[in-house]
Amino acid sequence: MNLLIVVPCYNEEEMLPETTKQLTAVIDKMVHDRSISTGRILYIDDGSKDNTWKLIEKYASESNKVCGLKLSRNSGHQFALTAGLEWASENADAAISIDADLQDDVNAIYEMVKCFNDGKDIVYGVRRERKTDTFFKRNTALLFYKLMNKLGGKIIYNHADFRLMSRRALKSLMDYPERNLFLRGMVASLGYPSDTVYYDRKERMAGVSKYPLKKMISFALDGITSFSIKPLHYITYLGVVFILISIAVIIYALISYFDRDAIQGWTSLLISVWFIGGCILIACGVIGEYVGKIYIETKRRPLYFIEKTAGISNK
Ligand code: UDP
Ligand code: MG
Repeated sequence: MNLLIVVPCYNEEEMLPETTKQLTAVIDKMVHDRSISTGRILYIDDGSKDNTWKLIEKYASESNKVCGLKLSRNSGHQFALTAGLEWASENADAAISIDADLQDDVNAIYEMVKCFNDGKDIVYGVRRERKTDTFFKRNTALLFYKLMNKLGGKIIYNHADFRLMSRRALKSLMDYPERNLFLRGMVASLGYPSDTVYYDRKERMAGVSKYPLKKMISFALDGITSFSIKPLHYITYLGVVFILISIAVIIYALISYFDRDAIQGWTSLLISVWFIGGCILIACGVIGEYVGKIYIETKRRPLYFIEKTAGISNK
C-alpha cells in the first residue's frame, strides 16, 4: 500500500526540519518492515509568510519522499487539510493527516497503518488525556464535545485531525459538497469500518499556536451549526414559553387594573423590556448564523487554489 502523510503548514519554518526528519524516519521504518510499500509526506503550505515554502521545495528536491502544494493564500487549517486530502484521494491508498508541530505522537502512525492493514477504513487518533492543555482549554473542549453530542452531531471525544483514512473513505469525504468545513464531524458521519488508536499529545516543540481563542470559538460554532439545526428548534420552544409567561402577565395586569387602580413603577417594565429584548437578540443571532451558512454555501466558491507544487511530476 502506498501511504501519504498530509501535513498542513502555516508559518512553520521552525518546525519543518524536525517534522521532516521524524516523519521520514517513520516512513523508512514501515517500508523496511513491509507494512507499507511506499510512503510520502505531502506538505500543504497554507499561504505562509515565512520561509515555509522555500523549505518544502528544498526537501522535495532532496528527497522523493517529500512533496508539497502551495495554496495561493491563507485559507485556514481545515481547507489546507482538504486540499491535501483531495490530492491524496487520487494519489494514495491511504492518507494520514497530522499537524506540522509534532504535538501528535508520530509513533501512533505504526498502529494506524496496522489497523488499516487489518481492513479498517478510518483510524482515529484519540488523546489519552489532556494534561498538556490549560485548565480552560480542557474544560471548554469537554463542554463542546458534550454539547455537540447532545445536539445530535456525532463526534469522537478528544480526537482532532490526526487520523488515517483509506482511499474509499477519502473519496466519500470529497463527495460532501459543503463549504463550512468541520472535517472531524464529517468523517465520523461517513460510516465505514473504523478503529481508534490512543496516544499522548505533547507540547508544541517550536513556533506558536495558530489557533487563538477567537478562532477556537468560531470553529466550535461552525461545528455545531453545520451538524445540527436543533438551536433553531430551541428558539421556537423559548418563544412558546415566553408567550405562556406573557399570558400570565396580561391576566395579572388586568386583574390589578380592575381591582386596584395603582399601576406599579416602571422598574418592572424596564426589566422586562430589556429581558425580552435580549432574548430577541439572541434568537436573531442564532437565525443569523444559519442564514449566513446558507449564504456561504449557495455561493459555491472554490475553497482554495493551488499556486505551485513541489516534487509532484504528474501535475
Ligand atoms: N494551520 C494551517 N493554517 C492556518 C492555521 C494553522 O495550515 O491558518 C496548521 C498549522 O501549521 C498546524 C496545524 O494547522 O500544522 C494546527 O495548528 P496549531 O498547531 O497552531 O493549532 P493548535 O495545535 O494550537 O490547536
Ligand atoms: Mg498544534
